[in-house]
Amino acid sequence: MKPRRIEILGVPTDCVDMSQAVARVETMIEGSRGEAVIAVNPEKVMKAQNDPFLLNQLRGAGLLIPDGIGVVLAARLLRLGRMSQVPGSELMPAICERAARKGYRIFLFGGSVEVNQRAGEVLRARYPGLQIVGQQHGYLKEEEMGELVQQINASGAEILFVALGSPKQELWMARYLPQLSIKVCQGVGGTFDVLSGRVKRAPALFRKMHLEWFYRLASQPRRLIRQTALPKFAWLILREKIVR
Ligand code: UDP
Repeated sequence: MKPRRIEILGVPTDCVDMSQAVARVETMIEGSRGEAVIAVNPEKVMKAQNDPFLLNQLRGAGLLIPDGIGVVLAARLLRLGRMSQVPGSELMPAICERAARKGYRIFLFGGSVEVNQRAGEVLRARYPGLQIVGQQHGYLKEEEMGELVQQINASGAEILFVALGSPKQELWMARYLPQLSIKVCQGVGGTFDVLSGRVKRAPALFRKMHLEWFYRLASQPRRLIRQTALPKFAWLILREKIVR
């Protein structure tokens, strides 16, 4: 069953929690065409306000996970629907766990050579029996993409994880998904870096308090420029709450 899809500031998001998201991925695997799993967070909601191409891509996605706590809170405040935060970095291992049990084949694309390699090793160790049928680092030249598409299609993978960061991975998915014979393609940002141990996730206390975004900001200040979307998002949500 498809989850209920709501719109926050005109941007679609699915009302799911982690187990519903995994269940939706499983139904997508049974489907007849490849569909995208895209993370929705305040930054992406703000970007989509002035980016009709991104908005269109989001509308066509098979699953839009509430990746950022800001999206969950906005949906609650505006009484649009109930959902739980489903971080893309947690959905990916949850899909791998299911894939190991069900025999779905996965392909890992993105990250540096070492990060990509190490992420594969970590996943194999963590989920015995997981079939990783292909891996490719994320620094290929544009002219090498045709070969990559062939490699992915020949691998027989049902699930493709793309870790190129945003918006690169969304643009890549929009361009190449129609040529791929996979069923599910999730954009996973820096998840391979976390799996490989190159980048640490926030300590449990920060995660529990939904302050992972703050921790990442403090430990990687280059993200500050990207995060200027947050106060704008909060202001637009409050304004919508007041005028309703
Ligand atoms: N990356 C890549 N190819 C590129 C640019 C980036 O494979 O051309 C990888 C990079 O090595 C890193 C990930 O994409 O593993 C970006 O992670 P980031 O944390 O910036 O993504 P976010 O989750 O913030 O979108």
